[in-house]
Amino acid sequence: MSKSEFDIIKRYFQRANNAADGVIIGIGDDCAILDIPVGQQLAVTTDSLVCGVHFFEDVDAYRLGYKSLAVNLSDLAAMGATAKWVSLAITLPEIDEPWLAEFCRGFFTLADKYNVQLVGGDTTKGPLSITVSAKGLVPSGKALTRYNAKNNDIICVSGPLGDGAVGLALKLEELSLTNRQPFIDALEFTEPRLLLGSQLINYASSCIDISDGLSQDLSHILKQSQCHADIHLETLPLSDALKKQIELKNLSLLQAWQFAVTGGDDYELLFTIPREKLTQLKENLRVIGLTCFEIGTIKVLDDVSAIDSKKSLIPSITFTHLQQPIDLNIDGWDHFK
Ligand code: ADP
Ligand code: MG
Repeated sequence: MSKSEFDIIKRYFQRANNAADGVIIGIGDDCAILDIPVGQQLAVTTDSLVCGVHFFEDVDAYRLGYKSLAVNLSDLAAMGATAKWVSLAITLPEIDEPWLAEFCRGFFTLADKYNVQLVGGDTTKGPLSITVSAKGLVPSGKALTRYNAKNNDIICVSGPLGDGAVGLALKLEELSLTNRQPFIDALEFTEPRLLLGSQLINYASSCIDISDGLSQDLSHILKQSQCHADIHLETLPLSDALKKQIELKNLSLLQAWQFAVTGGDDYELLFTIPREKLTQLKENLRVIGLTCFEIGTIKVLDDVSAIDSKKSLIPSITFTHLQQPIDLNIDGWDHFK
């Protein structure tokens, strides 16, 4: 690595770490050394954002810095972990200091919000891409997984769906609306639901963050838990901005549902919870200013036709509106399609 790259690390990425945050050795050695308290387990996740694939070349650097951390913290939230440490591997086509300063301002704004320490990484030259690995702590044995949803559990989401996908369609000029900004903001800014995730460890039977679309991410839970789902479209939370577009007849209700169900980039949490625990969870959430939305039910069917040759159940999602079945095109975003 060249001298200037060490200078860049020192100037932009190296900040004082604190042993109180479990950082014994941070940036500047071959590895970071981190302290894991007794009774806690380490949750580790990695997500890459590649220019032209996960973000547009002209995206604001502040927003990119924020989002590249946010999508990783969202994975920690989905396991019920408390975010602690991150490493950042960044590949830059050139050293553009004003761009880097803005990127870091976005990254550290979110890191500081959740007291997350940047403890290492890698800085290389090449086409712009960002890979963050986030580490969090979860009480031993309490991590929320995808494989424990049970018959009659209620399916909930943490917030409105579809805005990020509308933002993407606007950027791709597949859609045109006069009031674009709320949707572009939803696409470019993501708020990890860490506080909710940490509450859910005592309630939820399974959890996932919605990065690829409700139908695709719910399918992961259904496959791993070997069950089906009924989703009641009239209960899907939609943002005020999206509802306004329906009111103005710029989008039909069916289109709004399609965005909400198939579109990615919302990063809300989707979780299942035994019916009898829901009231207590909602009360706990209310006290800390959070909420969740019930959107459907888990079903375990005695359904021989849905069993494939490997004797594993092919999960299905039934969409209804006021108990009438609705046919939605439910292909989630697939990077390799
Ligand atoms: P090594 O060659 O031992 O892998 P490097 O020379 O790549 O180490 O990096 C020097 C130090 O700076 C290491 O502690 C590494 O973790 C840290 N580092 C490098 N790039 C970044 C970055 N983008 N963000 C945070 N820390 C970084
Ligand atoms: Mg080394």
